[in-house]
Amino acid sequence: MAKGDLELIRLTKRYGNALAVDAIDLKVPAGTYCCLLGPSGCGKSSTLRMAAGHETVSEGDVVLSESQITHARPADRGTAMMFQNYALFPHLDLVDNVAFSMKMKGVNKEIRQAKALDMLKLMQMEPYANRRPAQLSGGQQQRVALARALITDPEALLLDEPLSALDPFLKIRMRAELKKLQKTLGITFVHVTHSQEEAMALSDLIVVMNNGRIEQAAEAREVFERPATAFVARFMGDHNVLSGRVTASQDGVVKLEVPEGQTFSVRGKATETGAPIDIGIRTDRVRLAPPSEKSLGFNGIVSNVEYRGASVKITVIGAGSEDFTAIIRDTEYFAKPVSVGDALSLSWALEDAVLLGRVSA
Ligand code: ADP
Ligand code: MG
Repeated sequence: MAKGDLELIRLTKRYGNALAVDAIDLKVPAGTYCCLLGPSGCGKSSTLRMAAGHETVSEGDVVLSESQITHARPADRGTAMMFQNYALFPHLDLVDNVAFSMKMKGVNKEIRQAKALDMLKLMQMEPYANRRPAQLSGGQQQRVALARALITDPEALLLDEPLSALDPFLKIRMRAELKKLQKTLGITFVHVTHSQEEAMALSDLIVVMNNGRIEQAAEAREVFERPATAFVARFMGDHNVLSGRVTASQDGVVKLEVPEGQTFSVRGKATETGAPIDIGIRTDRVRLAPPSEKSLGFNGIVSNVEYRGASVKITVIGAGSEDFTAIIRDTEYFAKPVSVGDALSLSWALEDAVLLGRVSA
């Protein structure tokens, strides 16, 4: 283990009888930009707050830079946290806001003010040093909150939805700044978000959470191209999920039948005949063509058409209980447009389907 390595071991949070975080294991190597991604209520903030020491741990451990910090005080553990609402002190100017933790530690005024100014300089906020938080824009307040978190020289910076209070334009700009800052400092960042796009744009490591558990922890590209479970495939939004039962398995190809009767195939290991199985099919790899000997697919009825500029999103009913989505290029669509209610054949290649796993109970 190196300085800045963060490890969660069987980390568990219970609020009364409710299990919010269910014995998760996670290793975040030093210098990683890690995003905890998942829907509201899945346990992201609880996980982050336990790592930061702002929430008691029910069971399990938090280890940072080889030290067990599970029960250490927030200020003594090498982490710093940036809160969703920034939590700046309204009555203090920026220097005193940023220097606050050093004041609590008894550092003398000259030293702490010089360090606070350095941090404000790093965040390009030095010209505003004597203002109060209310005299700043949202993006500027965020930079002050960052400066305040970083003044403690943390080995890991923990950020809970740091961009959610910003308007869409500023969000994208601050996102780029956060990533640049992380690369410059080289410290571990753990950033909570419910936005797939944000996680994809920022992460070296994406941790997809659901119901207090980790469904997948991998690089962005792997999460996108090879979702581990049906939940990840649906949540990332780029795969159709078909659920059925295994009918045969041979030569590394599994055949399945959906309740509506059609059969499909996917590359993968043999599973017991009759076992439940989920497969994912990339929405952007689906073609408007009937299935043939070389491809898989089905005939259905168009349920919606959404124009997106460079692409068109067509949803079709006919395989499985969910709408099946095809994202096709605008040129392909306008060469042969379809409308709601039209019959439409869709197909895809065997390699564009992935076998989805299940989280073990
Ligand atoms: P997320 O950040 O992913 O939205 P949270 O970690 O905030 O999820 O919450 C996970 C679950 O724990 C939710 O069901 C939430 O209602 C519950 N929870 C969070 N904080 C508390 C608390 N202080 N007391 C009781 N339940 C809580
Ligand atoms: Mg939260």
